[in-house]
Amino acid sequence: MNQTLTSVLSEPNAVYDHDATERANRYARADLHCHSLHSDGALTVQELLTRAQQQQLQWFSITDHDCVAGQAEALAIAAQQPDLNYITGVEWSTLWQGIPLHVVGLNFSLSHPSTLEAVACLQQARKKRTLHLVQLLEKKGFHGIADWLNSNAAPNQVGRPHIAQFLVESGQAKSVKQVFHQWLGAGKMGDVKRFWPELAEVVHWIVSAGGIAVLAHPQRYKLSGRKQRDLVAEFAGVGGQAIELGLRGLSPQQRQRWFELALAHDLLGSAGSDFHQDDQPWARLGQVAVIPTPIEPVWSWFSS
Ligand code: AMP
Ligand code: MN
Ligand code: MN
Ligand code: MN
Repeated sequence: MNQTLTSVLSEPNAVYDHDATERANRYARADLHCHSLHSDGALTVQELLTRAQQQQLQWFSITDHDCVAGQAEALAIAAQQPDLNYITGVEWSTLWQGIPLHVVGLNFSLSHPSTLEAVACLQQARKKRTLHLVQLLEKKGFHGIADWLNSNAAPNQVGRPHIAQFLVESGQAKSVKQVFHQWLGAGKMGDVKRFWPELAEVVHWIVSAGGIAVLAHPQRYKLSGRKQRDLVAEFAGVGGQAIELGLRGLSPQQRQRWFELALAHDLLGSAGSDFHQDDQPWARLGQVAVIPTPIEPVWSWFSS
């Protein structure tokens, strides 16, 4: 059983069990990375909060791409769920040495000028990128994307998955997977990244607004050993405080590597599923990995 300091003080002969407290914290049910309909997720904010409650999550954050539109609603709904601590969240797109990366912001103020500046910058970047992508794709012979955008979508919130989905639904491509493989995925023609702000700026926005900046899914960037080391050093150097270690899908070698880099830079560990929709079995809400000792879980810094 989890003993608290208060119970120790009221029972002078009791022994305060640090290990039990540590374990309860480390094994807390947390998912601090997922997406709603406000970006490229399939569920509403309400549906996500209901799922989080069904999963008995203690710490939960919805981290839409470059968008905080769902946060006020999430906080309001979570206020009715006493066992769940909702943490404000976002996943900013950024560039480091020309490489596109994702930084999750957690527990920041929604009304802080830095957050407003970040939203304005990223929404503008997304809009420019979308319009550029549409031009590129129409040159390649795809059609109707501009009309679809005008009538159905906000270009400042459109992501590559929405465009891929449109191409499939309009009969111009077989599957979303194929569109990414051929046109939009890493290194392909539609992997347009030059509009994203620099890493240091994005971290600064989060930290200035009182939040914690988390390097998201570090294994996905396909970096060399040297780049991995440089990235974590620079991320920590500009104020980044945490890295996602509590996630599925890492090989044992990747797990060890990112653990060592986190330890070397005294970073906290975060946990997230990156849940988007039900037909992606590799990313289910609430399915995360335990953060390895002695890395401190990021939620130790949030108050419940
Ligand atoms: P964007 O935010 O527009 O840059 O799009 C990135 C999003 O596309 C990611 O967050 C994923 O949800 C999705 N994505 C990335 N790679 C793939 C892929 N190969 N197949 C399907 N979806 C992908
Ligand atoms: Mn996504
Ligand atoms: Mn991401
Ligand atoms: Mn994500």
